[in-house]
Amino acid sequence: MRCPFCAEDVRDDAAVCRYCGNYLTVPESLLAENLELKKRLAALQQELTELHGKRASRRAARRKL
Ligand SMILES: [Zn+2]
Repeated sequence: MRCPFCAEDVRDDAAVCRYCGNYLTVPESLLAENLELKKRLAALQQELTELHGKRASRRAARRKL
């Protein structure tokens, strides 16, 4: 069968794709949820990085005063 994630051919009885490591036996609804959560995680990590950047620059500005 073909992996829905990376489109590589994997064995029909494979539980995990040997190419991309995604689970092939998980229901599609859970896969969609997992994908959504991964996106949210990436967004939160981005937000956290920005907040850290802001805090650092604010601290630097305060030091000048
Ligand atoms: Zn794959």
